[in-house]
Parts: sequence; structure tokens; C-alpha cells
Amino acid sequence: MVEIGEPAWRGRQVAEALYQQRVRDVSEITTLPKGLRERLAAEGWQIARPAIARAFQSADGTERYLVQCSPDDPLTVETVWMPEGDGGEAGDGSEEAAKEWRRATICVSSQVGCAVNCQFCLTAKLGLQRNLTAGEIAGQVVAVLERHAVRVGRDRVNLVFMGMGEPFLNYDNFMGAVRLLVREVGLSPQRMTVSTSGIVPGIERFAQEPPDLRPKLAISLNAPNDQIRAELMPINRKWPIAAVIEAVRRVPLRPRERITFEYVLLGGVTDRPEHASEVARLVRRTGLPAKVNLIAWNPGPGVEYATPKPEAVEAFRQALAGEGIPVYLRQPRGRDIFAACGQLKRTVAGWGPPTSQDRDVGGPASVAT
Ligand code: SAH
Ligand code: SF4
Repeated sequence: MVEIGEPAWRGRQVAEALYQQRVRDVSEITTLPKGLRERLAAEGWQIARPAIARAFQSADGTERYLVQCSPDDPLTVETVWMPEGDGGEAGDGSEEAAKEWRRATICVSSQVGCAVNCQFCLTAKLGLQRNLTAGEIAGQVVAVLERHAVRVGRDRVNLVFMGMGEPFLNYDNFMGAVRLLVREVGLSPQRMTVSTSGIVPGIERFAQEPPDLRPKLAISLNAPNDQIRAELMPINRKWPIAAVIEAVRRVPLRPRERITFEYVLLGGVTDRPEHASEVARLVRRTGLPAKVNLIAWNPGPGVEYATPKPEAVEAFRQALAGEGIPVYLRQPRGRDIFAACGQLKRTVAGWGPPTSQDRDVGGPASVAT
């Protein structure tokens, strides 16, 4: 607005129209004088909101979306909606019973594809197609909030920046999106978690962010030592475990905040009992308030690893718990529709037909609402 010779507070009016009233056309920004709206339209300004182009629904209620970022670009990115349980309120006549979910988590992408090339991850197969803008990252969230009629401030919604891409290799746009989601959409950064493969300069910048605008931090550890980690995650050769931990130490934590270490269990590769003891030692030595999130590896075409045996997963969990490490097992969500961790890939227009496992619950027709 300032650039086109208008007062700065007009920018605030535009932001409110975009993110709270969620208008779809410049002509609908009724807080702006009519003349200004006409001028913006004449100069070619458009509201190009990311829209859900396709939706796939899993047997467990998870939905995976192909979100088209801009009307002029067929490229889509993946976003996932994970409703959690019905909390027992269904059918009791309460207002909440109308909803099929009480809490939900939205998994958001920060890039189309990813350049980090972790060997176990399907997204890596795409390479990096492009960075998403701050608006495209925040826009995924807005599109999903609308689809599920989420009442911001009343319904419990968590965001995880764990979709496609490495958020800390698109740092400015990622943090720009966080600011939009906090300031304009009204979501709390304490209900947001960003996961990184260990991009040290990104973690160092993150440590400087004000606490009221900073999501929680998760680190994809995924291996008990540098040797195994470097084989699985080539990025470890640039920033080994000690360098990552050193950077994480600089992040000033809020009261009761903990750092999450994600650990993908690869059958026979990272799921042995000796690995569990090594991980326990490693986490303890950091001295950080931390917890470990175990993720059983999710399969994908062309990725040659094995899912861990359920007994190995349970033994690993117990070993960490036995060493006093807070440990959680992340339940795979939406595996049947390729929505689970590390499975986001089939996203680029023309990528190929959905498999028989995809239950398509909303074609392009649902976009035009
Ligand atoms: N790029 C970021 C965030 C997206 S990946 C990162 O790597 O941290 C989110 C999580 O999914 C990471 O912890 C990653 O290690 C894990 N992951 C990747 N591929 C997986 C797979 N096939 N099965 C299970 N988890 C996987
Ligand atoms: Fe990229 Fe994360 Fe997949 Fe590694 S695990 S390739 S960093 S999306």
C-alpha cells in the first residue's frame, strides 16, 4: 500500500480482508474505498489463494490434499489433515457432537520437493522443485481451516511443519508464514512445531526469533551416531550431530518446553537394542529438556528399506523409557493414501494416476466454492 502511495494502515485492512474475512476478490475488500479497489483491479492485483485441488481420505480419517498454490500454476503441494478421535462426545447431544473431531493436526509443506536427499524419504525423490512463498505456506493452512470450518481460538488445532521440504532451507518464507499465521490468522506458535533435518545456520537464526513468534523445535535425529546418520542423511557430513546439538542449545526454551528428537526406525538399520542405548546416552548427554518421537518407517515405491518389526519398535520404546527418556511412538496416519511421514510425493501435476488405494473424495469441482 505504501509503495502505491497509500497510507500503511490500508495494508492492515487488506491483511484483515485476506486472512480473517478471507475474501476472494479485490472488489470484496469493502474496507477500502471503491476507487482504490477499482484501481487495484485495473492494475492487475489479484487474490490468488491456494486451493484444494484434490482430496484423498484414509480409512483412519486422515485426509491428504493436493493444494494448488496459484490459479495460474498447475504445480501442487501436499497438505495433510489428521483428526484425532471423537473424545467420546459423539451422540451425547452437545454442540461438539456435530463435529467429527475435537482436536486436529495440520501437516504443512514448506517447499515443493526437497533437496536434502535423506535416503529413506519419498519426498527426496522429487528433488527440489521450488520454494513456497510465505503466502503459499500460510495459504495451505487457511484452505484446510476453511474446509473443516475450524473456529480459530475455539477449536484445538496444531500445526506441524513436517510436510514436503526442509523449512530451514526456505527460512524467510517459512518464518514469514509463521508470522502470518500468528498475527493474521490468530493461531498460537505454542501449538506449532517445525521439524528440521539439522540445518545449523537455520537453527541459529531460529534461536534469535522472539518467543511469541517461534514454533517448537523438532530435530530429525534418525540414527544413533554420525556414521549411520551420514549414510542415511547426507546432510550429516556437512553438519554432524554435535554441531546440530550445539546450535539447538542456543534456542532459549519457554517454560516446560522440550526439544523433540524424531527417530525413524528402519528395520535392521536403526532399530537394534544397541542403537536404543546409544540414543539414550546421546540424548542424555545433550543435557537438553528433550523427548524422543519414534516413527516406524513408512514404505514407498523405490525406497529400499524395511518396516521395523512391531516387537523391535516396542523393545526400542521400552529401552528408552527404561533409561528415563520421555518417549512417544508416533502412530502412522494415512499410510493407505500415502499421507504418512515421508510419503508425500505424488504431487506435481501429471505425476501419474492415483493408486487404487486412493479414495478420491473431492475433485477439482470442490475448488470452485
Ligand atoms: N524436512 C524436515 C521435515 C519433513 S520430514 C525433516 O526432515 O525434519 C518429517 C519427518 O518425517 C522427519 O523426521 C523425517 O525423518 C521423517 N520421515 C521421512 N521419511 C520417512 C518415512 N519414509 N517413514 C517415516 N518417517 C519418515
Ligand atoms: Fe527432506 Fe525431510 Fe525428506 Fe530429508 S526427511 S528428504 S529433509 S523432507
